[in-house]
Amino acid sequence: MTEHVLHIAKLNNNCPVCYTTDGLEISFTQNEKETRFYNKADKAISETIYCHTCKNVIYPVDWNSDIERIYDYHKKQVTPINSMFKPKPILYLSILIVVIILAGLVYILGAS
Ligand SMILES: [Zn+2]
Repeated sequence: MTEHVLHIAKLNNNCPVCYTTDGLEISFTQNEKETRFYNKADKAISETIYCHTCKNVIYPVDWNSDIERIYDYHKKQVTPINSMFKPKPILYLSILIVVIILAGLVYILGAS
């Protein structure tokens, strides 16, 4: 699982926990599952507001209207990763090998 950071920004808002104005940081992340054969990103984007001063994650219940406003502003700048199924070349190669084996079997069975 790879975590992609889509957008990260420092906020000048007051931290609802320790009230400093220089500790908050908002980040938007999206997980992408990576297997040997394909990549597939989650549709869901997780957003976190973290205060570096008091080392707390600020959960939405603690957000004030200023934080909500800045959250909306930053959310608009986030471009999600395409969550389409992304096959790797080895997947096509594996399919090709299976097809060749099947074709070979059909040929052998047909010839006998
Ligand atoms: Zn804080």
